[in-house]
Amino acid sequence: MNYFSTRGRVEPVSASQAITMGIAPDGGLFVPQNIPRLPENIWQEMSEWSYQQRASYLMSFYLSDFTREEIEACVTGAYNAERFDHSEIAPLVELYPGVFIQELWHGPTAAFKDMALQILPRLLTTSMGKLGENSEIVILVATSGDTGKAALEGFRDVNNTRIIVFYPRDGVSEVQKQQMITQSGNNVYVAAVEGNFDDAQSGVKKIFADENIQQLLADHNMKMSSANSINWGRLLPQIVYYVSAYVDLIVDNRIRPGDEINIVVPTGNFGNILAAYYAREMGVPIRNLICASNANNVLTDFINTGIYDRNRYFEKTISPSMDILISSNLERLLYEVTSHDDRKVSEWMEELQTEGRYQVDPATHQKIKSLFRADFATDEETLATIKLGWDKYRYLLDTHTAVACNVYQKFLKHGGAQIPAVIASTASPFKFGSSVAKAVLSPEMRAGKDEFSLLRLLSTGTGLKIPAGIAGLEQRPVLHNKVTTTENMPATVLNLLNIKNK
Ligand SMILES: *Cc1c(COP(=O)(O)O)cnc(C)c1O
Repeated sequence: MNYFSTRGRVEPVSASQAITMGIAPDGGLFVPQNIPRLPENIWQEMSEWSYQQRASYLMSFYLSDFTREEIEACVTGAYNAERFDHSEIAPLVELYPGVFIQELWHGPTAAFKDMALQILPRLLTTSMGKLGENSEIVILVATSGDTGKAALEGFRDVNNTRIIVFYPRDGVSEVQKQQMITQSGNNVYVAAVEGNFDDAQSGVKKIFADENIQQLLADHNMKMSSANSINWGRLLPQIVYYVSAYVDLIVDNRIRPGDEINIVVPTGNFGNILAAYYAREMGVPIRNLICASNANNVLTDFINTGIYDRNRYFEKTISPSMDILISSNLERLLYEVTSHDDRKVSEWMEELQTEGRYQVDPATHQKIKSLFRADFATDEETLATIKLGWDKYRYLLDTHTAVACNVYQKFLKHGGAQIPAVIASTASPFKFGSSVAKAVLSPEMRAGKDEFSLLRLLSTGTGLKIPAGIAGLEQRPVLHNKVTTTENMPATVLNLLNIKNK
């Protein structure tokens, strides 16, 4: 299986090349040449398999230049009891009959990014080995909070790699920030950017396209790559859990093979929901993909109107990992639903770049609308949903997952089909503890408490355990305190790598 660029101006590459390169040289994203279909009767067979077996099987369709042994080594190295605190890796919990929460946050950093970032470094180093690549790979990451930490954990001390993470200085939660600035490892660097996530992401994209930096790095036997969800190696592992959720519903006798379900995803960069789209195209009977946004509802508007317009106020919300106005992975969806029309996609992306806005043609919009539903939740609605989830079902939702639950309620209210639904739960409630505490603890209880005291209070109040990756964070020493403007990001990269700009 080869990979094409969504902008159509590079020759097809292999899976290992796509993963090593991260982003295509023409500025596009790599996509598989076709989406494999699962055999019709695979469900029964797959019900007997562990998460790891399902992952190896599904990923082998796409990693055609990997051997089965290589894929299995990547999978078992990533998804094991040392790294995940739940034996099922991505367990389904029934919230109430017919509505299931898929907990994707049992990895080391307590957010769903671990599902991909625990395996990506393995896929990447295996790919490099295959290509005879002996440069050191420099991973550049722009993070809205969770990717950064998950990437640092995934790449720390991995041979022949270094990782540099840029996070928006005032755009991440206290826990997220503390997780990153205390990161240990001999190949890790972290810097705060004066700006929001879009500024950090645009800055990183510019560095990728900067020929001077590429040359300077090459002179030092280094090469850049990406751990953001623009890398195909990030998306692929995410397809696995949607397929696995469907199989789990069969195993639990909640559905029969062939029954349709809905999937609800709290969305930012459009990576997670795009993986669900790929699962659907592979043959998982998914009727609607429900795209849930917070007040940064650019995607809600796009799916409902066909107009993508980032010219709007950037809202800081209590679900910061979804505070995004440029959803990079939408480009892959556009490529798929236009049957690989790279000219159209290039034009729209050009318009987005120059005017901050584009409108897709009616046929494309119709296709998207036939699959996707979209709505958004305000912070107030999100807090009310967390409270309801706890009071009524004794289930503690994080802010992002609560956005999805709220949007799912709206979907039903607007006549959406009452079929089994899987809601992707993207973070542990303790990762966004102060907002969650606001929803379920009284003002008197919270008065004068800092973020970490609130976590302990939340834990005693609910009887739930603080995940290992978050407990004790405030005592860890701060190892990274660099701050940069967006203009200075290229210089910061060179400085961190100890490279002089000639
Ligand atoms: C990254 C993230 C999201 C958004 O996922 P995308 O793939 O960017 O759409 C949602 N919730 C949490 C907790 C996240 O970390």
